[in-house]
Amino acid sequence: MTFENSLKFAQQLDEQDELKSYRNKFHIPVINGKETIYFTGNSLGLQPKSTLAYIKQELEDWAKLGVEGHFHAKNPWFSYHEQFAKPIAKIVGALPKEVVVMNNLTVNLNLLMVSFYRPTNQRYKIVCEAKAFPSDQYALEMQVRNAGFNPDDAIIEVAPREGERTIRHEDIIAAIENAGNSLACVMIGGVNYFTGQVFDMKAITEAGHKVGANVGFDLAHGAGNIELKLHEWKVDFACWCSYKYLNSGPGGVSGVFIHEKHCNNTELPRFAGWWGQEKETRFLMEKGFKPMKSAEAWQMSNAPILTMAAHKAAIDIFEEVGMEKLLKKQKMLSGYLEFIIDNINEKHLDKSSGKFLEIITPRDWKERGCQVSVIAHGFGKKLFNQLTNEGVISDWREPNVIRMAPAPLYNSFEDVYRFGEILTKAIKD
Ligand SMILES: *Cc1c(COP(=O)(O)O)cnc(C)c1O
Repeated sequence: MTFENSLKFAQQLDEQDELKSYRNKFHIPVINGKETIYFTGNSLGLQPKSTLAYIKQELEDWAKLGVEGHFHAKNPWFSYHEQFAKPIAKIVGALPKEVVVMNNLTVNLNLLMVSFYRPTNQRYKIVCEAKAFPSDQYALEMQVRNAGFNPDDAIIEVAPREGERTIRHEDIIAAIENAGNSLACVMIGGVNYFTGQVFDMKAITEAGHKVGANVGFDLAHGAGNIELKLHEWKVDFACWCSYKYLNSGPGGVSGVFIHEKHCNNTELPRFAGWWGQEKETRFLMEKGFKPMKSAEAWQMSNAPILTMAAHKAAIDIFEEVGMEKLLKKQKMLSGYLEFIIDNINEKHLDKSSGKFLEIITPRDWKERGCQVSVIAHGFGKKLFNQLTNEGVISDWREPNVIRMAPAPLYNSFEDVYRFGEILTKAIKD
């Protein structure tokens, strides 16, 4: 598709957008009486207007029924989490039994590492991406220490090559092969939070399995953003949060995936609680943990219903729209943003002057999702502040990186065009 940098063109794309009615189902933050251009769905997705009613339902049932709500609420709390199995399975490409919604992301990452990082004296290493999201780095570091190993020796970080911005796929595969039978686990962010690079999870999983390691992904930036086929790719485990692309509210519940082959293995070590116990015997309150044969076996506690209700409001929208349409629009939106940035570079900036915009996100749409990350060479935080003052909500990382993620559910092509106008004005100031 050939794009044009004009309001008319952007509005035409919006006209043809089959998801255009969904923008109105979300609260778009307003500053100084104007709707913002909200490009931080990769950090905190916007609130569906329906969320309030979903939470209110549970508050009312709690008020009316007290403890009886566990079985007699409109959506009984005892089984509330079960409603997510089918729709979440579609979002991440899993079987319903392979997914469960529980806890928060880093908590789940640690819990999954308990099962899937089982180091021995010979096999104890972990391959991960350099500069992973800090929470993941800390989790891996302490998992290694907790098992009695030294992180400097056990953690193999794959970084971009000198002078490059993204990690070469062949370098990840080489790191896995080189580690060979010393490798216990591969744990990578399926989509890098900084560059927006999407990794080839299928090939990484194959390479990991070839040397006998377990392979897992942190999909905080993947779930609801890119196409995932976790079951088919034979990924061992994955986890994600619900408050980024999944619009389920600050600190919202996390989801996990555990491949069927592991769900059926009741001998697999794990941390446990009563909500992972077989349903038939759960309330006999007897000795002896008998795990369910599904991802639910990793649940420990009964579900936090109020945040679950917010999650349900959002997931019902995903269920209605389907990932296919989201992915189609996502490619167009990020493609249009890429075009606008290139266009501004060509028309208004000059690389030789040291002032230019460098897109560090892969240009191939198969290797990215919604996010486009840009280094604003020769510009400082003043540029970002100007964008913010004009109503653009994006994300700034020192010294000069702007991350933007137009989300297909609520962002428009006009948002992207208007962003371009504001950016053009800001770089000239
Ligand atoms: C957002 C994000 C987190 C946040 O973890 P929480 O436990 O939800 O606070 C962790 N890892 C990655 C890769 C993220 O992008």
